[in-house]
Amino acid sequence: KPLPLDFRTGIGYDRHLLKPGTGLILGGVTVAFEKSLVGHSDGDVLLHALVDALLGGAALGDIGTHFPDTDARWKGVDSARFVEHACSLLAAQQFEISFVDAIILAEKPKLAPYFTPIRENLARLLTLPLDRLSVKAKTEEGTDAIGEGKAIAAFVAATLRRE
Ligand code: MG
Repeated sequence: KPLPLDFRTGIGYDRHLLKPGTGLILGGVTVAFEKSLVGHSDGDVLLHALVDALLGGAALGDIGTHFPDTDARWKGVDSARFVEHACSLLAAQQFEISFVDAIILAEKPKLAPYFTPIRENLARLLTLPLDRLSVKAKTEEGTDAIGEGKAIAAFVAATLRRE
């Protein structure tokens, strides 16, 4: 008897502090801004949340399991490497990515001009067509650390499938 189609949804979340700097990296895309994200790697909250969503959908732990921030090998690395590794772990278990939806929480800067470049970069990283990738952004209307411009966060949901 064939196995039933196995659909999973993984969720991921990440938040990083901002410091004075020369720009953000979100979804692997450089965003012009007078601040930068603090992080052991490049501080890319969107890719970190994506990795957690991918790993979560396959019950493979989280980004800290696979890339501990105590490990000097991951210091300052391009977070795309985390995504590539997560994709290889999914492929090894016959999972395919069906859909990814993301929300970036940031008071500033305006992120709408970057949605298409970010989706194009995620499409390349995940080998997915653009219509299977959604990226949105919200402000926190001045509330909490994000609203005060001290941090940026991201939520990602990833739907996985295998036959
Ligand atoms: Mg992170």
